[in-house]
Amino acid sequence: MKPALIVHGGAWDIPDEAVGACTSGCRRALDAGWSILSRGGSALDAVEAAIVVLEDEPVFDAGFGSHLNLDGRVECDAIVMNGGTLRSGAAAALQRIRNPIRLARTVLERCPHSMLVGEGAERFAKESGIALCDPADLVSDAEREAWQLCSQDKHAAAHHRGHEQGTVGAISIDSRGQLFAATSTGGTCCKLPGRVGDSPLIGCGCYADSAAGGVSCTGYGEAIMKIVMAKTAVDFLRAVPAPQHDCPVPEKPSRVSIRLVAGSASEDAEGLPCGENFHAMMAAREAVHLLAHRTHATGGLILLDREGNPGFAFNTPRMAYAYVAPDGSFVTSV
Ligand code: ASP
Repeated sequence: MKPALIVHGGAWDIPDEAVGACTSGCRRALDAGWSILSRGGSALDAVEAAIVVLEDEPVFDAGFGSHLNLDGRVECDAIVMNGGTLRSGAAAALQRIRNPIRLARTVLERCPHSMLVGEGAERFAKESGIALCDPADLVSDAEREAWQLCSQDKHAAAHHRGHEQGTVGAISIDSRGQLFAATSTGGTCCKLPGRVGDSPLIGCGCYADSAAGGVSCTGYGEAIMKIVMAKTAVDFLRAVPAPQHDCPVPEKPSRVSIRLVAGSASEDAEGLPCGENFHAMMAAREAVHLLAHRTHATGGLILLDREGNPGFAFNTPRMAYAYVAPDGSFVTSV
C-alpha cells in the first residue's frame, strides 16, 4: 500500500500576517510524519510525530500557546483512533501535559478505557512515564495578552488579531495499510473551565475506519458535536461510489447556504473536484455543508479515503492544511 498523510492547523479567519507561520508549521508537520512513513514506519508514529510539531508551534491552538480558559489557563484535549480496530484513546481537560497527543496514544495503547479527563488523566500520564509540566509553561505571551483584553472587555476575535489559532489534526495510512486519525486542541478562548469540545470525542472531532477512511475536524465544537461530523464524513465516504477517473460533472450541490471553500489538485470548469480524489472531496464538502445547513456554524475537516486519497473542505475564510500528493510532492495551503 502506498503511504498517505494529510494534516491541518485549523479553520478560522487566519489573517495574512499568520499565513507564513501556519504554512511552515503544516509543512514541518508533514515532513515529520512523512519521514517516518517513507522509511516504512507506522501510521500511528506518523500522526503522533506530525501532531507534536503542531502542538509545539504556538501559532496553532494545541499544546503550547493554546487559547486560555476563563481562569487564564491552558486546558487541552486530544484523541487518536485506529481505523483497523475502531479503538480510540482520548484525554481531555489537561492542564499539565505538554504534548496531549502523546497521552492520547498512551490511553489507546495502555489503558482499558477510551477516554480519561482532568486529574485522573494526568495521574495516568505520570504513572505511564509522561512528565507533567507547570501549567504556566503552556501559556504564550500572545495568548496571555489576548486573554487579558478579553477579561477586561469581553471575549472578541479582534483581541486575537495576528495570532488566531486553530485545532490541529492528522490522518495517515502506512505501507501495511494501517489507518490512524488524530486531533489535538486547546479548545475555544475564554471557555468555562472543564468545557470539552468536539475534538477528543470519537465520531465528532475525529474518526477512522479502515473500511472507509479517516477524518479530523476543526471549528465550533458545540456545533460539530450536533452532527457528529467526523463519523458523518466517514459515512459519506462509505456511501459514495468508487472513485471516478474521467472528471465527471456531478450535479452541483444545491443546498450550500454559505460560502463553501474546497479546492483540489484538479477541478473541472464548474470548480468541482475531479480525478482520483473526487469522492474524497465530495464527502468532505457534504459534511461541511451539513454543518452549515443544520447548525449555521463554521468549521472544516480533512480526510483520507481508504485508498489514501485526500479530501478537505471548510466554510471559514481560510484553513491551514498540507498533504502529500500522489507524485510525492508536498501540497501546503492556507
Ligand atoms: N473544535 C475545537 C473546539 O471546539 C476548536 C477548533 O477547532 O478550533 O474545541
